[in-house]
Amino acid sequence: MTDLTVRAWGTPGFSQPLEPVTITRRPLREDDVLIRIEFAGICHSDIHTMRGDWGEREYPLVPGHEIVGIVEQVGDKVLNYRPGDRVGVGCFVNSCGQCHPCELGEVSYCEQGPVLTYGAYDGGELTQGGYSQAIVVRESFVVAVPPGLDPAAAAPLLCAGITTYSPLRHWGAGPGKRVAIIGMGGLGHVGVKIAAAMGAEVTVLSHSTAKRDDALRFGAARHVSTAVGLPEDLHNYFDLILNTVSVDLDTSAYLGLLRFDGALVQLGLPGLPLQTPTRMLTTRRRSLSGSLVGGIRETQEMLDFCAEHGVTAEIELIDAEQINQAYDRTVASDVRYRFVIDAATF
Ligand SMILES: [Zn+2]
Ligand SMILES: [Zn+2]
Repeated sequence: MTDLTVRAWGTPGFSQPLEPVTITRRPLREDDVLIRIEFAGICHSDIHTMRGDWGEREYPLVPGHEIVGIVEQVGDKVLNYRPGDRVGVGCFVNSCGQCHPCELGEVSYCEQGPVLTYGAYDGGELTQGGYSQAIVVRESFVVAVPPGLDPAAAAPLLCAGITTYSPLRHWGAGPGKRVAIIGMGGLGHVGVKIAAAMGAEVTVLSHSTAKRDDALRFGAARHVSTAVGLPEDLHNYFDLILNTVSVDLDTSAYLGLLRFDGALVQLGLPGLPLQTPTRMLTTRRRSLSGSLVGGIRETQEMLDFCAEHGVTAEIELIDAEQINQAYDRTVASDVRYRFVIDAATF
């Protein structure tokens, strides 16, 4: 079998706008799945990578790690997928498989570093992401997209969905638990929906009030504007706070919102180191932690949960021609709430 040539959108060089490019996919190995891509979400980390915020890469580079498509062909030893199945691919396409986190199925925390879906080296081959017509991925890094989910609106679940689902599960969000989500963008809005579906009481903490109605519609019990400071009556209140924004916040002030045994979990990456007096942790046995994307098994669990509870992302579907404009609008927070590219337009 020979390489498969596919059309894609990527950047031809450092910090350049995206344009049509042609890439090749490897011939199918025995454990590979060839996926004809239907939809690809635009994640903020695509923009950071493409615009050079995280350094120079090898080019051309095609981003995209929120991928939904249909299986077209499978290798001889593939057990779980058949042509015609709808599947998804998220942030990783390989990991060492041997280290402690890998043995636990937590590939995001692979001690060798998981192999990212784009811009990484997988056995010497540069990975290229989902802004393309097709992708070849090992079966063990493919998840099934349940029939109940709208495939375009499900695409962002592969990154934004699992990034919020994983800490919500880990810290026990559910009935009787009070959860706050800081920021309601691409990540946050899915987090609100998932936390509410888990049965938690959800509060959105947001600088502006512009998304208040949406927050309530997504299942939040309340929306609190933080523009004039954090309300007194929320001190010692929450069991879990997920911070989805990457701006530098007053960590101590947010820790003060946690009640006994509560946890503040960072999902975004602020520029400055986090700082807080230690007593903010000791007095109520609070935790300050961080979380990455979940593993593959947990991603499948998340998709099944979302199908069962009717949770998908709110999306604006665009053509490939609109990608650069969509990047500008995402940076300007001018999207409700995630752009998804129709792969038929690549
Ligand atoms: Zn992402
Ligand atoms: Zn590993």
